Amino acid sequence: MIDREFFLGFVKIHIIYHASKEPIFGVEIMSELARHGYDISPGTLYPMLHRLERDGYLFSNREIVGGKMRKYYRATDEGLSMLAQSKKQIMELVKEVIDEK
Ligand SMILES: [Zn+2]
Repeated sequence: MIDREFFLGFVKIHIIYHASKEPIFGVEIMSELARHGYDISPGTLYPMLHRLERDGYLFSNREIVGGKMRKYYRATDEGLSMLAQSKKQIMELVKEVIDEK
């Protein structure tokens, strides 16, 4: 990645998007982001998840899976409305930057 900071907003949108579809957890979202070409370390991802939760876009619950505690995140209503706004902005961006209209 040329400039990580530049893409962190996209990463947040990905996280909220997936958390709106199903409960997500750290390791899983990390491999999903890697699939999209985002090389995000746990040192970046976990604080980001915590911040998104603190700011009210995600909520979490803990479950024991295979004897290990796992923290699952889902999008809150605020997260969903942020996602809806982001979609609008993404459409705008695609129209201008990709379609060059
Ligand atoms: Zn994704």
